[in-house]
Amino acid sequence: MIDCHTHVWDVNKHFSESFLQDAIEGTRKRNVRLNALPEEHWQDYQHFDGKAIVFGLRSEALGVNVPDEFVADYVNRHTEKLVGFMAVDPNSVDMVSQIHNGVDMGLKGIKTSPIYALYHPRDERPMQMFRLADELGLPILTHQSSTFSKRAPLRYGHPTTLDDVLVALPNLKVIIAHLGYPWERETLHVIRRYPNVYVDLSAVHYRPWDFYNQLLMYHEWHLTERILFGSDYPFTTAAATKESLLNINRFVEGTNLPRIPDEVIADILNRDCFQLLGIED
Ligand SMILES: [Zn+2]
Repeated sequence: MIDCHTHVWDVNKHFSESFLQDAIEGTRKRNVRLNALPEEHWQDYQHFDGKAIVFGLRSEALGVNVPDEFVADYVNRHTEKLVGFMAVDPNSVDMVSQIHNGVDMGLKGIKTSPIYALYHPRDERPMQMFRLADELGLPILTHQSSTFSKRAPLRYGHPTTLDDVLVALPNLKVIIAHLGYPWERETLHVIRRYPNVYVDLSAVHYRPWDFYNQLLMYHEWHLTERILFGSDYPFTTAAATKESLLNINRFVEGTNLPRIPDEVIADILNRDCFQLLGIED
């Protein structure tokens, strides 16, 4: 099993006060841990039955900056289990050298977030980032989804904004995080035309009825092979996500509702996203 979406950061050092405040308010109704120091991450992942992709977050506009060195220093101590991605904001003045430095540090992909970094994916600087990723064979995990932050306009999160990038770079390897919620349907129609574009199901299982319906939609479109397993640690855990997935058909018992086939669930849990994304671990 590979958890393709986990974070490390020190919220007290890497988050601006306003972003941390938004995160606290936005998650208040669920009992979540926000901090994810490397030693806490390792506590949870050293006994994990599989591997994990680890990254921080970067937004010049919202004052979030988890240094790539912080991630690389951690994952490079545990290469048997962990793969690191760099967190890129294309508005950073040193974006190009940052990406080359990230590769030199052993990081294998890019995490980027148009909604947090306040950019439209087809703007000039983001396009430069996507082109460079394409040239260097770096997969991109992008947060095309909504957020708790008051300072992040939803229009940047919309998954169809990525469509303009994919029309220009149809072979780019991409994971759209969180099934692209709340635009799951649009996300499916973005990814269905591009065989190297995937979704991760992280941070969706807290809404189990919705989770069931999204999986059913992918099943009906014969696209479940594009779903990757991910948690969004520390907001939840891989174990809780897996448990929710294994119990997804509880809604079906005693009804005529369609089942999510067991092999679809097993395939999601066993899918080797490193192989699909060309990551050598
Ligand atoms: Zn995340």
